[in-house]
Amino acid sequence: MKKALVLGAGGFIGGHLVNRLKNEDYWVRGVDIKTHEYVKSTANEFKKGDLRDPRFVKEILDQPFDEVYQLAADMGGAGFIFSGENDADIMHNSAMINLNVVEASVKAGVKKIFYSSSACMYPERNQMDPENPNCKEDSAYPAEPDSEYGWEKLFSERFYLAANRNYGIDIRIARFHNIFGPEGSWTDGREKAPAAFCRKVAEAPDGGEIKMWGDGEQTRSFLYIDECLEGVRRLMESDFMGPVNIGSDEMVSINELANLAMDIAGKSQSIKHIPGPLGVRGRNSDNVLIKEKLGWAPNWSLRQGMELTYKWIAEQVNKKQFMLND
Ligand code: NAD
Repeated sequence: MKKALVLGAGGFIGGHLVNRLKNEDYWVRGVDIKTHEYVKSTANEFKKGDLRDPRFVKEILDQPFDEVYQLAADMGGAGFIFSGENDADIMHNSAMINLNVVEASVKAGVKKIFYSSSACMYPERNQMDPENPNCKEDSAYPAEPDSEYGWEKLFSERFYLAANRNYGIDIRIARFHNIFGPEGSWTDGREKAPAAFCRKVAEAPDGGEIKMWGDGEQTRSFLYIDECLEGVRRLMESDFMGPVNIGSDEMVSINELANLAMDIAGKSQSIKHIPGPLGVRGRNSDNVLIKEKLGWAPNWSLRQGMELTYKWIAEQVNKKQFMLND
């Protein structure tokens, strides 16, 4: 039986990854600073602690795991990453985690580490035109991410690559593009656009109004969680180190995303555009490299994933309203 360590197991992607690995008959130790808000972890063991603390990281890396999945990061949507208020914490906390994890993994004789980077590390100058963003893997340099979150991801990518060259540890790196689905942040200020619009549409009545930061003409692509995990597992099984994009190439405007949520809900609402933190003007996953290296790329439609996500968020909204009225 293979043994895996999932760091960030109390979070959105980590929580789903634990389930996926369990379904593949792995023995799994999950680690996070908090337990999962929405589900009970299916990990064989769940250890709660702070990965910024090297002593704790040494404790949980007490054996040569077959696979370590490093998903822990100080993380959130545009409201968290682009406001500027959390920049130093984001850089400090996530870099500390990665520095500790590599050192302890090398000492423990870990066989392979997966590192979750982000499309936020791509240069801002290539993402000004909402119709034609360039997110090819080899467009990363000269570097010019538009957020400190992106800079930390770039630093840590380089650190994992250097650890591979100098310490001989096997690594895999993926650059995730907007992963979404049920059982993730939807109302705590760290939620991303798909969850935020599902919530806004579910909370507002038919004929009502929802608010949106910016003009809604900025573009993005969104990848459903199950497809993200399929990509992660295929990358781990391959002999390609990366970095490689794991994202959808179905690019939509944020207005289109909000309208899709309304369509799924069967509601017609108006959109009020207000000032707010935005990020780059356009972004889409370039899937040429993943197809070439893994012979696979995500192919679910955005609607398929949004239908499942809307259902879960509408249930959370109903539960909250029921509790408030009770
Ligand atoms: P998440 O915030 O739900 O999960 C991250 C987890 O890390 C959280 O549960 C958090 O408690 C944990 N964590 C943070 N600091 C910690 C610490 N000091 N010690 C222990 N645990 C700590 O985020 P997610 O969406 O599941 O993202 C997982 C990874 O994927 C992150 O590295 C993120 O940067 C990356 N990523 C995600 C997306 C996305 O769209 N969700 C896109 C690009 C990259």
